[in-house]
Amino acid sequence: MRLDRFLGETTPLTRSLAKRALKNGEVTLNGEPVKQGALQIDPDQDRVSWQGETLALIGLRYVMLHKPVDIECTARRGLYPRAIDLVELPKAERLQPVGRLDVDTTGLLLLTDDGQWLHRITSPKHRCAKVYVAELAEAMEGERAQRAIEQMREGVLLDGEETPTQPAELRFLSPQRAELSITEGRYHQVKRMFAAVGNHVEQLHRRAIGPIELDSQLAPGEWRELTPDEIALF
Ligand code: URA
Repeated sequence: MRLDRFLGETTPLTRSLAKRALKNGEVTLNGEPVKQGALQIDPDQDRVSWQGETLALIGLRYVMLHKPVDIECTARRGLYPRAIDLVELPKAERLQPVGRLDVDTTGLLLLTDDGQWLHRITSPKHRCAKVYVAELAEAMEGERAQRAIEQMREGVLLDGEETPTQPAELRFLSPQRAELSITEGRYHQVKRMFAAVGNHVEQLHRRAIGPIELDSQLAPGEWRELTPDEIALF
């Protein structure tokens, strides 16, 4: 790998600042000052330092965030702060959300820069279950609740779509609080599914993605890296 590319990967330096750092003698290769950015280095064997600090390539990262409300899952800066702005890791902008949540939805958001891992979770082929808890505008009890359970199990037609949703598991925790487990990721899917059975979601929270549950130790806005065992689940 070229030394200037290595500096770009391992430091906050832009191309031109890296060039200047090299010119100023701030960079050493195996203890000796080095000035040529085009030099080929072996990141596993060579020791590169900038301003006396040894640099190492960043490996793949896997993060669990307890997403609060008023946070966007987009890469571009918009109206609200972004989920990646809450994660204090170097080059956090490389992390991608594993399935987005609406700005007003809270709960489990996984972020990673491992594209294959992300694909294994989000690919429709893998039918990974996402579990949501919804606070509903209207109480559903008795036959009405039972009918909603059956409709969700059979699949509902969302407004403006032609194919029904995949079978989903609905469980009432109380008449106005229900857990819905879905295996797809359509636009505003949970809110639209409750609309399809004649209700309205007032608050939505994601509790789990497949076997990974939101860590109860994380307050809204807090994050942690996944453990190797959690990463290996996908
Ligand atoms: N379904 C929704 O309607 N919103 C979300 O944020 C996630 C799933």
